[in-house]
Amino acid sequence: MELMTMAMDGFTLVLANASNSAQGKGVSANAIAANIADPIANTQNTVAASFTQVGVGLHSGATVRVTVLPAAEHTGRVFVRTDQADATPIPATASSVVSTQMSTELGNGAVGNGAVGNGAVGNGAVTVRTVEHLLAALVAAGVDNARIEIDGPEVPLLDGSAQLWMEAIAQVGLQAQSAPRSSLTLTTPLWVQREDAFVVAFPAAEPRFTYGIDFPVAAIGKQWHSWCPSTESFSDTVASARTFTLAHHIEQLRQQGLIKGGSLDNALVCDAQTGWLNPPLRFPNEPVRHKLLDLIGDLSLLGGFPQAHVVAYKASHTLHTEFARRWQET
Ligand SMILES: [Zn+2]
Repeated sequence: MELMTMAMDGFTLVLANASNSAQGKGVSANAIAANIADPIANTQNTVAASFTQVGVGLHSGATVRVTVLPAAEHTGRVFVRTDQADATPIPATASSVVSTQMSTELGNGAVGNGAVGNGAVGNGAVTVRTVEHLLAALVAAGVDNARIEIDGPEVPLLDGSAQLWMEAIAQVGLQAQSAPRSSLTLTTPLWVQREDAFVVAFPAAEPRFTYGIDFPVAAIGKQWHSWCPSTESFSDTVASARTFTLAHHIEQLRQQGLIKGGSLDNALVCDAQTGWLNPPLRFPNEPVRHKLLDLIGDLSLLGGFPQAHVVAYKASHTLHTEFARRWQET
């Protein structure tokens, strides 16, 4: 979820109600680390059992239920809209992206040219949005194959981070599979750029993600953070970073009727003059860590972790997914 408006993309921002279930299960970071797989290992995994999270849908305000189930080797991560009788599955791949406004939205074809409806567009074509935090948790936990059943058009925002997804995965554990993972390697640098924002990848011996942001607000300002899957725990350093936004943007959208249920429980909100409205932060640089979370979720659409050092600066879901498509074309 990308609540911070990036002026260059004309993004708007949205808040959602917090989840009303599956919170506070108290799974420790150590327990999570023990139950998830090596995300850069060579073979595939699925979840050992299914799990469910329930939360409030962003636009409808209705409760949405997501159940993640085991899936066979080479299935990939696939969304299934169980509320639509004729819906065909939506593979979580770069070619499924239909919109990147406010969040990343996937569709299974016949949606066309970024047009976004209410998530049910007929003839079996459906969409699901705000997929990035769940996908980041799955790829970082080493879950290659999963059937993700959802009874609405949008993944719940929960607490605004990937922490509850990581805890749920850790509670059920993983089932190792024998099929090899496909490698995502580069031979030359690859980049996308819009004005001063960019995503670039350099060939590297092991995956690394680095992010930079620069906001004209003292409480945020310039932040950089880097995460290496082979040496640092995703659960400890990235998963719990929450989405963030500026208070005056919230008010603008409320006045436009665009936010039906904003909450200080699912996003950090920053006032340009007085600073954070709902401290404490989970990290001093929680905003840029959340941008890393979004980047990892969006790049999971490639299938796994790129064998590269990916550096993003002032980027967005639009640039993240444009980069993924560019990678696929190479
Ligand atoms: Zn996000």
